[in-house]
Amino acid sequence: MRAFGYTAPADPATAVRLAAQPGTTYVAGGTDLLNLMRDGAEDHEHLVDINRLDLAAVTADDAGLHVGGLARMRQVAEDRRVRTGFPVLSQALLASASPQVRIMASIGGNLLQRTRCGYFRDPGSACNKRVPGSGCPAVEGQNRMHAVLGGSPHCIATHPSDLAVALLALDAVVRVLGPDGARQIPVGELYREPGDTPHLENTLRPGELITAVDVPGGPLAQRSRYRKLRDRATFEFAVVSVAAAVHLRGGRVRDVRLAFGGIGTRPWRSPEAEDALRGRALTAVAVAEAGRALVRGAQPRQHNAFKVELVQRALTGALHEWGALR
Ligand code: SF4
Repeated sequence: MRAFGYTAPADPATAVRLAAQPGTTYVAGGTDLLNLMRDGAEDHEHLVDINRLDLAAVTADDAGLHVGGLARMRQVAEDRRVRTGFPVLSQALLASASPQVRIMASIGGNLLQRTRCGYFRDPGSACNKRVPGSGCPAVEGQNRMHAVLGGSPHCIATHPSDLAVALLALDAVVRVLGPDGARQIPVGELYREPGDTPHLENTLRPGELITAVDVPGGPLAQRSRYRKLRDRATFEFAVVSVAAAVHLRGGRVRDVRLAFGGIGTRPWRSPEAEDALRGRALTAVAVAEAGRALVRGAQPRQHNAFKVELVQRALTGALHEWGALR
């Protein structure tokens, strides 16, 4: 690990001004960043420690839930208002990482964590995301955990955040502060597909800091669930995951939101699958149609083709939460 500078400002404006400088990035819990720097997969000249900023509050009002960017994963997962009004968030967080990591890791950092592609994390490998133009060995190599949707010949890495999938299903909005002031970004517009610039992963501008996440409340949020399939029961990333929010009335789907992890190069919302269910009874036939709509256009590789079938089964399993499918 190379030597780096370190500053811990007490106010957001100073943090933003410092972090906008080239070679500089934020650190909060450090649970991903410091591993990347130690392993040589990321290199920064200066870290701006934001732990002194007053951004850790979790509040709720008539509009919904407001989670500070520095709130910790465990803090949010165990909050009673989150568990009852936004269960998909609590379930996604509790299915993430280890208890120790959940104590340290911040919500903003969780949303901006880097991919778990093994080539990306190995500085001895080529990787277009880490070294633009160097190639993508995953396309023809070890790609069991990689994406079947949203990829390009230049990168097929999945985004690893369970929380981002859950927030996407709830139409959450991220509040950011940058050198040009504050703005809001829907979670669905926060992440980029790789195209021919896989090193550009999100739509944040230099120096922008996630200050909070706003999550609309209501019947859909209250009826939300997260289902994650992984290779072992804990401290493991999703092979596939489903965030589902369903509002049934009179036996029919009044409204539905479906987002998926482990299958896309970004947290993956499927309007096509939602359209296949909206207004219908939640039958096995309808859910199967939704599953087929979800994976239409999938581009599986040698080792990850099983995800196309698995995610459809995961969707069926997740929707069983709303009663036995007929
Ligand atoms: Fe790098 Fe993306 Fe290819 Fe992985 S899939 S090696 S992150 S370019």
